[in-house]
Amino acid sequence: MLRFAPSPNGPLHKGHALSLLANEAMAKALDTPMTVRMEDIDRSRARPHFEAAILDDIAWLGVAWQPPMRRQSEHFAAYEDALSRLRDADLIYPSFATRKEIAAAKATRWAGRDPDGAPRFAGDEAVIGPEETARRRAEDAPAAWRLRMDRALEAVGVQTFTEVDGLGGNPAQVATDPAAWGDVVLARKEVPTSYHLSVVVDDAAQAITHVVRGADLRPATAIHRLLQALLGLAAPAYHHHRLILCANGRKLSKSSGATSLAATRELQPDPAVMRTQLGYPTL
Ligand code: GLU
Repeated sequence: MLRFAPSPNGPLHKGHALSLLANEAMAKALDTPMTVRMEDIDRSRARPHFEAAILDDIAWLGVAWQPPMRRQSEHFAAYEDALSRLRDADLIYPSFATRKEIAAAKATRWAGRDPDGAPRFAGDEAVIGPEETARRRAEDAPAAWRLRMDRALEAVGVQTFTEVDGLGGNPAQVATDPAAWGDVVLARKEVPTSYHLSVVVDDAAQAITHVVRGADLRPATAIHRLLQALLGLAAPAYHHHRLILCANGRKLSKSSGATSLAATRELQPDPAVMRTQLGYPTL
């Protein structure tokens, strides 16, 4: 079982179309179904009209998928359950410093940068100071939950993952470096889960055997494998496909104003053109 897992907080662009078609190609090669999952945990950004537009784009490209569609927002209980298992094992801790506070702190108060280039968390005391940390703890202030990376690694060790080619063949073991991420956030203050936690819970719940997604998520696979090991979940094989870059060499993104599929469709309504352009012609 494969899954296409867009976030309905904006329109799809060509990069998403590539991901969708790469999922379809592997599902066909392996003769296994593909399903759709809406990664809509960010309630402040997810919108029903984006979800409807995504399903419309998928239908336009002619990609068949197996219902039911899973919406992450309907499974907060499952994420809470996974989180409480990690809490019972003393593998997570409440953390008070906000993202803003971390970003505003001097770089000497970070523990370097993570693979995405974001400040690596050095602990609440480093960021907001011991007194403020104690104060927020005493008044039970809203907290995020972070993974104790050192204990997690002690518990299950550094994992490898299986990378396969675009047709699901030629498996190769890939080394991971979860420590590069530091104590990652597994549940936010305003959202009781995170991308990392939800994705491993869902991939297991949906019996996903092959994860096909963009190469930008390859470093995050280190976290996903670690969480799978900690939670005793089966590990799928992964295929991280090429990214479509824009003129400045960065990957296409909603935030950088990539042209939506909807706008492309208006100029060129024949999906066969886009499929061919992306290297997945209609057979
Ligand atoms: N929701 C993620 C995205 O839109 C994809 C996550 C995944 O495939 O693991 O980039």
